[in-house]
Amino acid sequence: MEKFIVDEARLQSVEDNYKAIKSRIEESAIRAGRSPEDVRLMAVTKTVESVYINRALVLGADLIGENRVQEYLGKKDELHLNGVEKHLIGHLQTNKVKQIVGEVDMIESVDSLKLAKEISRVSSNKGITTNILVEVNVGKEDSKSGIYIEQLEELLLEIAQLDNIKINGLMTIPPICDNEKELNEYFSTMYQSFIDIKSKKIDNIDMNILSMGMSGDFEAAVANGSNIVRVGSAIFGARKYF
Ligand SMILES: *Cc1c(COP(=O)(O)O)cnc(C)c1O
Repeated sequence: MEKFIVDEARLQSVEDNYKAIKSRIEESAIRAGRSPEDVRLMAVTKTVESVYINRALVLGADLIGENRVQEYLGKKDELHLNGVEKHLIGHLQTNKVKQIVGEVDMIESVDSLKLAKEISRVSSNKGITTNILVEVNVGKEDSKSGIYIEQLEELLLEIAQLDNIKINGLMTIPPICDNEKELNEYFSTMYQSFIDIKSKKIDNIDMNILSMGMSGDFEAAVANGSNIVRVGSAIFGARKYF
């Protein structure tokens, strides 16, 4: 096996980037008339080796997001996860539910009743309740998972009937667009829907979390009401896929 060599320069840049992103989030919150504490930074750790993730964790990162069940289970023991919240943010296949339920604090990527039913079933077997977000495909892209916004409320109502699963809010990845106005429209559509459902006070649906915004667009997301921004490459550098 090739020896893994820690890149000291990269460690330093994780530190610099983490601090810089934290202050940019605070500044965008203040610009939007929001309180900086209302917006949490999630460090998105997919493909990142544990040593670099741990640097963010010692700096105070208290929320991480992973995409793949296998990858997360493979590296979690190397991470300093005391007091750190873990979310699964990648597309989840029904046959992987058994492995991830109980391992993370939230599954942000629930986009079908079938998946929700499996999470409910496995959670009840394990005697726990799993917190979830419902993922919305706000740009109706074929390449993305998530429910269309027109079908969102119906799905939420169905999931709310299930045992051992708790809806906490919504997650989205908008289309990549270099047009700021269009981007803002996607984010504000999400916010409207979030507020709309929240105001209905439906049993077993807590609309507290609106997870949107990534490295390239988190400032616009914060301006439009996001309260979790999921940032990967702007902290850890460009991803290398193996
Ligand atoms: C990879 C990923 C992110 C972070 O993307 P960056 O552009 O690197 O910040 C956020 N959310 C999800 C669901 C992801 O898969």
